[in-house]
Amino acid sequence: MIYPFYVNGIDESSRWEKLKSEIWSDLASCEMYRHWEYYDKDEHDFYTYGNVPNPIDLGEFVRCAYCDINGILPIGIYWNLEHVLPRKYYPQLAFDIDNIVVACNRCNKKKCNKVGKSVGNLVLPYQKRLAKKKQLKLLEIA
Ligand SMILES: [Zn+2]
Repeated sequence: MIYPFYVNGIDESSRWEKLKSEIWSDLASCEMYRHWEYYDKDEHDFYTYGNVPNPIDLGEFVRCAYCDINGILPIGIYWNLEHVLPRKYYPQLAFDIDNIVVACNRCNKKKCNKVGKSVGNLVLPYQKRLAKKKQLKLLEIA
């Protein structure tokens, strides 16, 4: 299912889907890379070891940028690519990978389009740091 992805009132969902799949596939490659680091030819069967059923199952490799959850996620929790500074107020950062982190859907939903103090202490340092890096004013939007 492809959701609309509005940036400055224009649906950029196909551009976003493309970037998203590039990011996920990079993460999956890193995970596979790490997987093979533990391959021991005396101990593992090459084909069984290489046959990872779901390479997109990022397992312990990713963790939520905010709450630190990782590993096998509880039912109903899944990974999102999340914009630290919401594209609604920072459309220039909609496709900037400095602004995109892996977060759990719970944190993503909680943060929503908030900016500034109302995001709470888990997210605020990320927003502050990024606004500073991009020389943008950190808005206060609850
Ligand atoms: Zn989280």
